Order: sequence, then structure tokens, then C-alpha cells
Amino acid sequence: MSKVSEIFGENVFGDSVMKERLPKETYRQLQRTIKNGRRLDSAVAAVVANAMKDWAIEKGATHFTHWFQPLTGVTAEKHDSFISPCGDGKIIMEFSGKELIQGEPDASSFPSGGLRATFEARGYTAWDPSSYAFIKDNVLCIPTAFCSYSGEALDRKTPLLRSMEAINKQALRVLKLFGNDDVTAVRTTVGPEQEYFLIDKDVYDQRKDLIYTGRTLFGAKPPKGQELEDHYFGSIKPRVQAFMKDLNEELWKLGILAKTEHNEVAPAQHELAPVFSTTNIAADHNQLTMEMMQKVAGKHHMVCLLHEKPFAGVNGSGKHNNWSISTDTGMNLLEPGETPYENAQFLLFLCAVIKGVDEYQDLLRISVASAGNDHRLGANEAPPAVVSIYLGSELTEILESIENGTAYDAKEKDLLKIGVHMMPRFPKDTTDRNRTSPFAFTGNKFEFRMLGSAQAVSCANVVLNTVVAEELKQFADALDGAPDFDTALHDLIKKTIADHKRIIFNGNGYDEAWLVEAKKRGLLNLTSTPDCLPYVLHEKNVKLYTDHKIYTKTEIQARYEVSCENYCKVIRIEALTMLDMAKKDILPTVSKFTGELTEAALAKASLSDSLDCSYEKELVEKLSRLNATAYQKVKALEEAVLGADDIVESSALCRYYKDSVFAAMSELRIVVDEMETLTAASSWPYPSYGKLLFSIK
Ligand code: ADP
Ligand code: MG
Repeated sequence: MSKVSEIFGENVFGDSVMKERLPKETYRQLQRTIKNGRRLDSAVAAVVANAMKDWAIEKGATHFTHWFQPLTGVTAEKHDSFISPCGDGKIIMEFSGKELIQGEPDASSFPSGGLRATFEARGYTAWDPSSYAFIKDNVLCIPTAFCSYSGEALDRKTPLLRSMEAINKQALRVLKLFGNDDVTAVRTTVGPEQEYFLIDKDVYDQRKDLIYTGRTLFGAKPPKGQELEDHYFGSIKPRVQAFMKDLNEELWKLGILAKTEHNEVAPAQHELAPVFSTTNIAADHNQLTMEMMQKVAGKHHMVCLLHEKPFAGVNGSGKHNNWSISTDTGMNLLEPGETPYENAQFLLFLCAVIKGVDEYQDLLRISVASAGNDHRLGANEAPPAVVSIYLGSELTEILESIENGTAYDAKEKDLLKIGVHMMPRFPKDTTDRNRTSPFAFTGNKFEFRMLGSAQAVSCANVVLNTVVAEELKQFADALDGAPDFDTALHDLIKKTIADHKRIIFNGNGYDEAWLVEAKKRGLLNLTSTPDCLPYVLHEKNVKLYTDHKIYTKTEIQARYEVSCENYCKVIRIEALTMLDMAKKDILPTVSKFTGELTEAALAKASLSDSLDCSYEKELVEKLSRLNATAYQKVKALEEAVLGADDIVESSALCRYYKDSVFAAMSELRIVVDEMETLTAASSWPYPSYGKLLFSIK
């Protein structure tokens, strides 16, 4: 392990480097900025920039970039070299304070959802000093937020930082009421478990669908899939092992605490979990992790698929967002405490989460909505599309006894009075048994399991931070100045449980009966992206976001437009790719194959009348019929794609892409997949599912 400690964070301009390289006063001022989230003074910035440059150049860096997260879902960077001419054809290596704290990338081709038309075309990036600068491929990367000149957020980091501030503010108010005067900052923490597939580069290169869309658009089921469940936690293949070793090292150098790794349920599927960190850093690190996974896979002649559903009929990939709230004094606010007082505080924070998740089910659902994730949610492998909370039986019983005013433990005569009595302890292990729950309490944190593997974690955490900030605000308002704090607290918790217990569900989320029950409880079941996206514009949601200064009304509208646009674009690209594959490869292949069969049959017949040509004859008939049907489906899909041109309004267009284009794609796929099972393997133009899924030896 000495190796790990040697390389860990070696490419990060982190705390120890800062301490070592910055003048004491500069270090102190920078720490203050980091802690308060305020903008850096330009004189301090100049000193920091210079130290950063010297450090980066010593490490071999030649360029720097503001590293940011536009609404494309991937990170963006524009490299500038440190080189600066100083006359006589000479150069010096320079990096100014201004270049550190602010940049001006050409923003015009990033999605803005119309913000660009309304406001300034240009955008600027601003350093987020709470996330350390790092070196990647000889480039000094400075994590930044990306905004328009009029201040609208054009990225995923800005709202996340705003939501961190919102929950900090409200949680501090609540903590003060409990007498925690030593706490000066509250941060949420996140540990995202990342799933992915690895396949061989050679087979990948033969699949246009994987290249253009990240998932297979055609493909008959292989004889062996995941039925035997022999891959799950199974021994890791040497090539994958070598990849994981390299990946871990690359991540450690970047200060990312990659910790556990194992095989997942599907063949070729794996998972990586880091040690949790402050949410905005975890979000940056997860983006970097996804990037590194793809890069390192390339070095091993493999391709890392991050799509939520690369293969039909095989488990897709998700991302479990482990989320908690902690203080700068080291308290985990979602950890049941040791004393009655700590327990009361825990219950209040727990209630804030319960109430928030119930009232803003729609926002949580939207935060994980994408064309890719639509293949998972509700498809019997990932959580259902209905948002509910799993608390485990012990905690649920405690809440029930508070609500009903009954003793929790039959042996105890006393009623459980919050703030006065000790809450019974519940064993941590029993809290994490239910894998079907979208939102599970796991002892000292919540695990939000609906995220798709390719999604940035920021969206989900903006919602979590904000909704819990809102509930904490309401709680603080109610408790502040209450004549008897304990009674007010007890009543508040009791009422919250009574009003929001419908969101708690400890049963099997895959069970059909749950969907019926959920409907009875009035819970939302938004099964697709077009179904859920419009909810963001509902008044309660706009109010939430604007009250807490997460988004302005314009920003909400803009993000809504970007999400709609993205959904439509993805489906459109998939449809066009399918058409290309069907018209150029699949239909001609089947036609040619039936021609060969016909020739074979004719040759046989010319040899002798008695030779049996039933295989050739029946197959020619069957395949010809199927190919004709496929041709009709191709034409139908072409028409469906053209039909989209007539629709302007965003939500109508999303719906059209789902109901018409996606539906036509599914119909075409069924026919083509059947033809694949009937056509000679040597003729089929693409590597089969079997070859793809078992391509790594
Ligand atoms: P499991 O593997 O059973 O889901 P683990 O305890 O291994 O559970 O944790 C999974 C993830 O949860 C890890 O990424 C871990 O860092 C993260 N995690 C643990 N504690 C916290 C916390 N307080 N806040 C956020 N994430 C956490
Ligand atoms: Mg987990």
C-alpha cells in the first residue's frame, strides 16, 4: 500500500501542496475563500496562480485550461499554453491571477436552451476554489463554473454550488436551535458507485450503433446471458484486472479515492466505488472517473461503455448516489446518535428528507431522466419509476410509534418522547437489504439508486440539497421562538410522519402490486422522460428553485429546453443509425443470403429430384417474408423521422419522438433480431451479442 500513499494526489494542487508552496498569509486567505465560498481577491489570486504554474511545470505541464461542465453532459476544456512572448523571439512561462480566476471560452456552441438568444452570446468561467486544480495529460485543469455574462448558469456546477449554499444556510439554522454553536459549515457528501461495461475494441469497431449511440440498436439474445448469475462478484478476468489496476492508479494520482471494484450482474459489467467526499468535489471526481475509464480502457484495447442500456435483455448500468449531510465539526447528521438529544436532531433531519422526497418526487424523477435511463427505470432491474423511500423495519416502527403515541418496545412502558427519551438502537446491517428501492436509508446515509450510469451526479444532488434545504427552512421557521422547544419538535416530527408516510415503502419495488398500491397512495409514476420533464415548470417547483436562488425562472425554462432538445436528438441519432444499418447492411445481407440459399436449392434440384431442399426452401420463404416486413418497417421509421419536422413545441416533440419514432424503432428491431437468428453467422454484418458480451477473455 505504500505505493498508493506515494502516488495519491500527486497530480493535484491540494492542501499539502498549497501549504508547502504558498506564503503563509496567501494560504490562509485561500483557505478562507474555500471555506466561505467567496471570490478570491486578485492580489491573492496572482500569488496562487504563480505557485500553481511553477508546480504544474515541474510536473511536466505545458498548458492550462478552465475545466467546466456545460449542459452537454461531458466536461469541456480549452487549452492555452503557459507560453508568453517577451521580445527578442524569447518566451517566458506565465499564468496570471486573472487567468486563474476567470476565463472566456467561446461559449457559442454549448447548449443554452435559448439563454444565448435572450442574453449575451459569450460566457465566462470562474474558478471554484473548493475543488482543487489538477494535471491531466500535461494540462493544468482548473475546475470552474460556467456562466453567461449576465450571470445565468450555463453549466452543472453553478446550481450545485448554489444548492450547497442553500442547505448550508438552512441546516445551520436548525443546528443552532439544537444548541450546536460550534458548527460553522454544513456540507452534503456523496459517494457515487459507478457501473460500466468493458468490451473488446475489435468487436466495438464493427458496430456502428455502439460507435454512434453508445448502445446496440439491434442484436438477438445470446444463448447465455446473465441467467446463471455467475459473473456477479465472480473472479475478475486478467485483462479487466490489469485495466482496474491502471485505472485505480490514474484516479489516485488525481486524488480520487477509488476504493472498491467488482464484477456486476451482467457479463462484461463492472462497478467502481470511491470513498465519499463533499458533493461538488464528488461530482467533479465522478466526471473525471468516467473520462479516465474510457481513456484507460483504450490503452488496454478495450472500450468502456457508460450507456445505461448497451444491451437489451441484459442488466443496464446505473449509478448509486450515496448522500449524507455533515458538519465541519465532523457530525454526520443522518447518523442516529448516542443520546436522546442527538436522536431528536437525527429524526428531524430524517423528517426533512422524507418530506422533501415526498413533496418533490417529480424533481427527483426529472433529475435522473434521459433517453438512456428510460430503458432502465421501471424495467424490472433498476428501481421502478415510482419514487419511494426504504427505511427498514426498525426505523419505520420507531416512526410509527411516534406517530401513534405508542411504545416502540412492548417491554417498555414509557412512550417515546423525542428529545427526552433515548431512541432504541437499530442494527445498521439490517437497513440495506432492499435492492429494489429507489431511495434507501442505509444506516447513516441515503442511497439514491435511480441515476443512470452516464449521467452527471450534479443534477440529482442539486435536487436533494435544495428540497432538503426547503424542508429545513420550514422546520427552522416553525421551531424558532416556539415556547416549548421539545413539545414543538415532537409535534412537528409527528405531523411530518403522518403527512408524508405514504412515501415510505419497505417492500419489493419490482412487484406489480406495488405500482397499484403506489397509485392508491397518490405517488407519481412517471415512466419516461417526456412524461416527467414538463413537471419542472410547475409552480411549486419554480417557487422552490427561485426561493433558494438555485435557478431563476429563465434558467429553469432554459434547462427544460435543453433536456427536451437532448432527448429528441438522442432518439433521432439512434433512428438514423438504425436506418443506416438496416438499409446499407442488414437488408442487403439477408437478400444476398436468401439468394445463396436459392442457388443452393436450385443446384441440388438440378442434381437430383430426390434431394431434400426443405431447409433452403423454408428459410428462403421465411427470410424473404421477414426482409419484406423489415423493409416496410424501415419505410415507416423514415416517415416517422420526417414527421418530427412538423412539430415545434418542445414537449410535443419529445412525446412524438417517444410515441412515433422510438415506437417505429422498436418494431424494426424485432424483425431484424429475428432475421439474425435465422441467418448464417458468417453472413451477418455485425458481431453478435455473444461475441460482444464475452469478448474479454
Ligand atoms: P454498499 O457497497 O453496501 O452500497 P458502502 O458502505 O460500501 O455500501 O458505501 C457505498 C458508498 O457510500 C461508498 O462510495 C461510500 O464512500 C459511500 N458513503 C459512505 N458513507 C457516506 C456518507 N456519509 N456520505 C456519502 N456517501 C457515503
Ligand atoms: Mg450501494
